[in-house]
Amino acid sequence: MKKGCLQKEARKLRVEGIVQGVGFRPFVYQLATKLGLDGQVANTSTGVTIWLEGPAAAMEKFAEALTSHSPPLSHITQVDIQKRSPTGCSGFTITQSRENAQRFTLISPDVSICDDCKKELFDPQDRRFRYPFINCTNCGPRYTIIDDIPYDRPKTCMRHFKMCENCQAEYDDPLDRRFHAQPNACPICGPQVTIYDRNQKHMDTSDPIETAVSCLKDGFVVAVKGLGGFHLVVDAENSKAVETLRRRKHREEKPLAVMSGDLERVRQYAYVSQKEQTLLESSQRPIVLLKKHTSYMLAPGVSPRNQNIGVMLPYTPLHYLLVTGHFTALVMTSGNLSEEPIAIDNQDAFARLGRIADYFMVHNRDIYLRSDDSVVQSVEGRPRFFRRSRGYVPVPVFLKRALKPILACGAELKNTVCLTRGRHAFLSQHIGDLENLATYDFYEMTIDHLKRILSIEPEIVVHDMHPDYLSTQYAKQLSQLTRVEVQHHHAHIVSCMAENHVAEPVIGLSFDGTGFGSDGSIWGGEVLISRFDGFERVAHRSPVPMPGGTAAIREPWRMAVSYLYRAYGKRFLNRRLSFLDTLNETQLSIIMEMIEKDINSPSTSSLGRFFDGIAALAGIRSQVAFEGQAAMELEMLAATSAGECYEYAWSHDRRIQVDPDPIIRGIVKDIEHGIATELVSAKFHATLIALFTDLCLAIQKQSGLSIVALSGGCFQNAILLSGLCRSLQKRGFQVLTHEKVPANDGGIALGQALIADAMLAR
Ligand code: ZN
Ligand code: ZN
Ligand code: FE
Repeated sequence: MKKGCLQKEARKLRVEGIVQGVGFRPFVYQLATKLGLDGQVANTSTGVTIWLEGPAAAMEKFAEALTSHSPPLSHITQVDIQKRSPTGCSGFTITQSRENAQRFTLISPDVSICDDCKKELFDPQDRRFRYPFINCTNCGPRYTIIDDIPYDRPKTCMRHFKMCENCQAEYDDPLDRRFHAQPNACPICGPQVTIYDRNQKHMDTSDPIETAVSCLKDGFVVAVKGLGGFHLVVDAENSKAVETLRRRKHREEKPLAVMSGDLERVRQYAYVSQKEQTLLESSQRPIVLLKKHTSYMLAPGVSPRNQNIGVMLPYTPLHYLLVTGHFTALVMTSGNLSEEPIAIDNQDAFARLGRIADYFMVHNRDIYLRSDDSVVQSVEGRPRFFRRSRGYVPVPVFLKRALKPILACGAELKNTVCLTRGRHAFLSQHIGDLENLATYDFYEMTIDHLKRILSIEPEIVVHDMHPDYLSTQYAKQLSQLTRVEVQHHHAHIVSCMAENHVAEPVIGLSFDGTGFGSDGSIWGGEVLISRFDGFERVAHRSPVPMPGGTAAIREPWRMAVSYLYRAYGKRFLNRRLSFLDTLNETQLSIIMEMIEKDINSPSTSSLGRFFDGIAALAGIRSQVAFEGQAAMELEMLAATSAGECYEYAWSHDRRIQVDPDPIIRGIVKDIEHGIATELVSAKFHATLIALFTDLCLAIQKQSGLSIVALSGGCFQNAILLSGLCRSLQKRGFQVLTHEKVPANDGGIALGQALIADAMLAR
């Protein structure tokens, strides 16, 4: 062997990515020790820095294993290696964290309990047997307990708990699974659970969780403080309890999510495919929409008039103790009153949930940032987000190229915001509908919090064109920043392009309920030739009046009348439709007058409203409790095969306008002939798929474009999404869809950020 090979060299490695709070330093320590390397590793505000001394060959092996064998929860985005002169150090150490001038690191999302911790949880011999806050470097809370960076115990809500000797020893031992696990705790030194009744009277019990279980068994509503906020919990098999919860929460119809202890139990009431199982068992533990089993036996009120049910597996030790061995499923719905943000603070919960819950199971570990459960559905074998929140945030969407620091303010409903830094776009957790003060406070707080923990000082602020959105008003206050406004449906499409790393022009189908158009009218059935820095509206659904404005969203029957009037004039009153019999004559004549004289009837090209109108026409529902409910029920009813579709047509002058009349006439004829609603719904879906495929072909002829992007809330409709995907792909189109961010307004902030950057660059 040549002498040079054993000569000591030195390297400095800077690692960026999600490398803190995920067992990265212990992994580095063990790897270095195994390879006989000297040096040290430290967390910094930009990631992790490693100093190595030893033979060059060993250091090469180290660099290779660093990325190929990194811990499961880590995500390395960059490794920078510099040659340095050795200092002659010996041994390998983990040094204290230090603050850097440039503060930036990726923070891990909250991670569901790992198998090792779960084993200990149920092991009577373990010192953490049944301890509801068990965690290690591979699992536990992160995002919701961090107040600032670097991610170390003093910067988390665990700073109030001084570790006992045993915990400290684990924390200090580089070979222990809990080495530098910041939330490390045990029954002696960590947070504790307590249970109160609704009068805030502390209940005397040695086992609060068992007490909560028996309250649930007795049919009571229990508010449970979890990871990202409170849940309201009842036994999902107890119809009376489910009804009580709905009544008190003022949540009449919206489906409630459930939690079961394991897959075997889930399979008793829902079908679980391989892909769905993977989602359910992932460390993010989202709510997964599953198809109800024919043997479904949970309370009908859990998910009424819906083929699907939202299911999650436990993600904290507390959840396991609550559900395992006691219940087939628990209803776990967010702890809030209708559309307010979920409660995270004990006192706040007593104040806001006091009329809903009979008991409160709380604990003394603070939640710094609320984070709702995420909701996904597997469509065409890919995850589709209804809500991207706990478990996923703040993992960034990785972009194709770097952006300036931008704050994108999102839209109004299902709001999320987006902050960018370099090639990272950080979408916030679900904030909610920006319609009340409580949500707006949460909105401001989230922006401040994200700016701090991500160390981003935005130079540009971007918002929706809608002048009345609170997010627009927020943006306008930030007068020191460069401000850009962006059209809603353009932002949807660019969001889809961005997550798919596509920068060339696309045909964008942007379908949703409502968005402010560049011409001041309400859009929502838009076909845009879209680039990052602009768009051309090449086609849309012909506008129809929305009699009563927003009232027409709550009362889809108004849309049905509007469509009928458009297709038949007043003669529609002679059609033999049972839908018409349900209407009050005076109301009907008022609505007709509003349409005729254009009184408080803004026109809309929205596809969402088209779904609403047809749902009402088909007799599915004339009023809704939440936006999109009628459309969703229309989808749920659809027979699996349509066989044929309705006639469709579009006119073409300055741009293409899709005419709803032939479709409406076809549907009316079917209903008059007694065709089942299931078939009408299936035919309607098939019609839209055929129509928009044809339309894309026509636009392709003119424009030469062959990429189609599908975005907007209507693509939460699985039939429409998978039908259009297949049909367009069959015609040779490349189809872009969402799988990293929601197709609904929860994903719009990403598109806003990219548009702002492109517009300013131009
Ligand atoms: Zn663990
Ligand atoms: Zn301890
Ligand atoms: Fe939208």
